[in-house]
Amino acid sequence: MSEHTHDDHSHLDDMDVRVRALETLLTHKGYVDPAALDAIIETYETRVGPHNGAAVVARAWTDPAFRDWLLRDATAAIASMGFGGRQGEHMVAVENTPEVHHMVVCTLCSCYPWPILGLPPVWYKSAPYRSRAVQDPRGVLRDFGVTLPAGTTIRVWDSTAEVRYVVIPMRPAGTEHLDAAALARLVTRDAMIGTGLALPAPAPAPATGAAP
Ligand code: FE
Repeated sequence: MSEHTHDDHSHLDDMDVRVRALETLLTHKGYVDPAALDAIIETYETRVGPHNGAAVVARAWTDPAFRDWLLRDATAAIASMGFGGRQGEHMVAVENTPEVHHMVVCTLCSCYPWPILGLPPVWYKSAPYRSRAVQDPRGVLRDFGVTLPAGTTIRVWDSTAEVRYVVIPMRPAGTEHLDAAALARLVTRDAMIGTGLALPAPAPAPATGAAP
């Protein structure tokens, strides 16, 4: 509905203005240092992002002891790789299997494991995702282009301010020869939210000199 889009747009503009006004006021009063604010924003735009989570998943795929630790105490296991901090204090990892597919939502707002996934995508914060993920997870997955076998159970985890979930997607077939760095490239942000799957194994490089 176009009216809705328009409302959202105005809301964002209004929000933008308010954020700027607040930043100006707080800076003038000496409560915040604009350079510190820039550093925080830069951190979440570049240093912190889904590549952190992808490294965690790839390690879980290749290191059984780490996988066990991750499933037992995700906060500690993830912190051991240098990823921690705000919005990641209490993390829980849930592992996809052929029997169970996990999907993460925050029905109340937009709680999300920042240290390993960065800032949440816009759709994660949207009302339609937040309500439909619970009511019709299979339909949501279809919208994301994911079709699971009818026999697969879908389990939806509701994030809160206390607990942030991360999905360990299934390791794609035919990736036995890949190292952790190559595996990490197959782990998308959506795969770790559960609205996607890990990417398929890359096609093997053609043998040198081989003619078709
Ligand atoms: Fe939330």
